[in-house]
Amino acid sequence: MTTAHTITAQLNVDIAIVGGAMAGATLALGLAKLSATLSRPLRIALIEAHLASNNHPGFDARSIAIAHGSIFELTRLGIWPKLQHLGTAIENIHVSDRGHFGMTELNAKPLGLGALGQVVELAQVGKVLFEQLAKSSVEVFCPATVTELQTQTNGHLLTLDNGTQLHCQLLVAADGANSVVRQHLGQPTEQINFDQTAIVANVSTDQPHQHWAYERFTQTGPLALLPMSSVPMTAAAHTAVSASAAQSRFSVVWALPPAQAEQLKYADKAEFLTALQQAFGHRVGRFVDVGQRSSYPLTLSYMPRPIYHRCIFIGNAAQTLHPIAGQGFNLGLRDVVGLLDVLKQAFSTYQLAHPSTEVDVGSNAILHQYLAARQADRDSTLSNIEFLVRGFSNQYWPMVAGRNLGLRLLSWLPPLKRPIAQTAMGWR
Ligand SMILES: Cc1cc2nc3c(=O)[nH]c(=O)nc-3n(C[C@H](O)[C@H](O)[C@H](O)COP(=O)(O)OP(=O)(O)OC[C@H]3O[C@@H](n4cnc5c(N)ncnc54)[C@H](O)[C@@H]3O)c2cc1C
Repeated sequence: MTTAHTITAQLNVDIAIVGGAMAGATLALGLAKLSATLSRPLRIALIEAHLASNNHPGFDARSIAIAHGSIFELTRLGIWPKLQHLGTAIENIHVSDRGHFGMTELNAKPLGLGALGQVVELAQVGKVLFEQLAKSSVEVFCPATVTELQTQTNGHLLTLDNGTQLHCQLLVAADGANSVVRQHLGQPTEQINFDQTAIVANVSTDQPHQHWAYERFTQTGPLALLPMSSVPMTAAAHTAVSASAAQSRFSVVWALPPAQAEQLKYADKAEFLTALQQAFGHRVGRFVDVGQRSSYPLTLSYMPRPIYHRCIFIGNAAQTLHPIAGQGFNLGLRDVVGLLDVLKQAFSTYQLAHPSTEVDVGSNAILHQYLAARQADRDSTLSNIEFLVRGFSNQYWPMVAGRNLGLRLLSWLPPLKRPIAQTAMGWR
């Protein structure tokens, strides 16, 4: 695995990534792949505060849905082949509005696909990504945190808590919603507090899931069920709920008003399962067991300008989404791919024109190309999600009628579904 460096010398790298969870780790692996194609390899450093454990903030007990488009990109990066044994396919998605007539389905088959996406457990994904990093050219500092950051004309000087100093031409902040880099550099974010908390847990049901995922809009907030493998994949036994062949495991993400979420987080199993059954209904049979419950306050935060002098913000550091549509990492991965594309382009055009000089990876030109490449996708994903959260958490009757009609129309007019399915699957 990775080692903690204790040297106090200054190291020079081209790119330093702060934060090694989903966004930072995939970027580091993507950069290592790009570097292998260059005449002068890139020096890449990844700084991550936490070793793999139950308390890892980025690779915790959560399961997430990775959309079809993201699987395609992860495959291109050579990462998905290492992860695919951990995935459970989503072949159909059922969307409904509790207590109203509106419902619709998205199905992989009519779109000519085997799956709309894959569900993975983050704790398991983290282990594999760090095994891959240990075999790569990336210099990994873990566990280590950035304690000081000095901005210089030609880059940034980072001081780590073990005394190591790193100078980089380009700093990539992938350090999550409360980005320390963003705070050091005094960069603003815009925030919307939805006054909701998500309860996340693994549950088992007495019927097989048959690769269906569910999104149900309830009076208190959206409730999502993602199909999981029947055998618990995570080593964290306290989160595990196993299921027999006839049963299924699902990952539940249930948005609730904060006080109700707090109460259900600590309620006994029977009380929790009854409340879940009432909120979801019987479409997946009976809920028979639940593992450890975690909670996440739901906000939407957004950096209007995710660049600063020789610094690019990606993933949750740039924008943190409500999990309503399962788009957080899918959007973060598009940041990763966007940055890799801009760098790849810079190397291929610049090296042709100036074979004897080196590309400045932190130049203003690269930063602005990245900003332009990501603007439209970030803006539209954010406004769609805000619309969904507000539209489907509202009990004002014209809103209820409108969204139910919308869901009905989608099931009556299948061609309308294609653009929605394309967005949900992260196709660009
Ligand atoms: C309940 C829930 C369900 C979700 N479901 C989905 C889904 O179905 N599909 C989907 O695409 N997305 C989903 N998401 C979103 C997704 O989980 C996140 O977008 C993604 O995991 C964020 O990854 P990240 O690497 O950007 O940030 P983070 O996971 O926040 O990682 C930041 C990393 O930076 C490290 N760090 C922080 N400060 C420092 C420092 N000073 N020095 C060094 N390291 C530091 C931290 O240790 C951490 O590892 C969900 C989110 C939630 C809460």
